[in-house]
Amino acid sequence: MSSPSPPFRPDVARLAGYLPGEQPQEEGWVKLNTNENPYPPSPKVVEAIRQAAEGRLNLYPDPLGRDFCRAAARLFDVDPEWIIPGNGSDEILTILLRTFVDPGQKIAYPYPSYVLYETLGEIQGAAVDRIALRDDWSWPLESTRGRLADCRLLFVPNPNSPSGNRFPDGDLLQLVPDEGVLVLDEAYGDFCDEPHSGDLLSSQEAAGRMVVTRTLSKSYSLAGLRLGFGVAHPDLVAGMRKVKDSYNCDTLSLAAGVAALEDGDWMRENAARIRRTRLRLVEGLATRGFDVVPSQANFVWTTHPDGEHLRRFEALKKERVLVRYMVFDAEEPGREGLRVTVGTDEQVDRFFEALDGVGS
Ligand SMILES: *Cc1c(COP(=O)(O)O)cnc(C)c1O
Repeated sequence: MSSPSPPFRPDVARLAGYLPGEQPQEEGWVKLNTNENPYPPSPKVVEAIRQAAEGRLNLYPDPLGRDFCRAAARLFDVDPEWIIPGNGSDEILTILLRTFVDPGQKIAYPYPSYVLYETLGEIQGAAVDRIALRDDWSWPLESTRGRLADCRLLFVPNPNSPSGNRFPDGDLLQLVPDEGVLVLDEAYGDFCDEPHSGDLLSSQEAAGRMVVTRTLSKSYSLAGLRLGFGVAHPDLVAGMRKVKDSYNCDTLSLAAGVAALEDGDWMRENAARIRRTRLRLVEGLATRGFDVVPSQANFVWTTHPDGEHLRRFEALKKERVLVRYMVFDAEEPGREGLRVTVGTDEQVDRFFEALDGVGS
């Protein structure tokens, strides 16, 4: 006898669900599949967690995470009212949808990019408009404007994932929706050759119509902690605060987050190392006949003219080297390729060793 199907909301029943990259739990993998930082977080972070753990865990955290807001505000040269912390920047994306988008309303995002925007939109019952990027991953500005008229949120990862290219600030300013908000997802902003920190927020045109999101998962080496934040005009933040869970960030991550942001030198040294290794990765791939998109992030998007990406992915995996094999179906001709996170020099050496063993 088959049991009746669960009484899900139709939007949930239809949902495929977002599929994150694999997280093998045993040692020994060269893990280049989810853009984690190969270097540890600042020792000051670990010390802050220890102190916070010995402190007041019986009490709820500060609902607004005000110490953390002050630390993040200093980075962006804004008042703390411009900051909203979240359980990873993914939670900020969820809060944005719940704050600005009613079921049936439209959101948009470039394609291919971070497919989680689409999943979160579907959960909210939004209509999702994929804006196809050009073959060279640049933005088709002329054709986009008309599609933004009834758009509530336009999500733009900058640098983009999986391609790693950075859209020019001037272009992005043209993309603020008439009746909505431009969300600049700067998860990889610290890896740019010229790191940016919310320059666009100070532009008069865009004030009040733009949210920048940041994460501590990548450049600050804290993916295991779950902490990110949004930066926006206080009028926008006020609405988002109404929607968030009361205690969406816990005492330990907030304390760790303050220590991480205050040790900016640690983060910048690791980001500089990663940029140096990125060059080696790009050159090594090019030498082996791969095409590589110029990257401003801690990963590269690479394709081979022979199209054998899945075979390489699987062969690498047998050697315990994990990269991300990605396929994007679209109205446009589909694209597939490998996204490879920039690890340490040693990890990149092992990647090439395994790749050479795979044969072409
Ligand atoms: C990794 C990533 C995030 C978010 O990460 P959190 O760990 O939730 O802070 C957001 N956007 C993009 C494009 C990412 O790649």
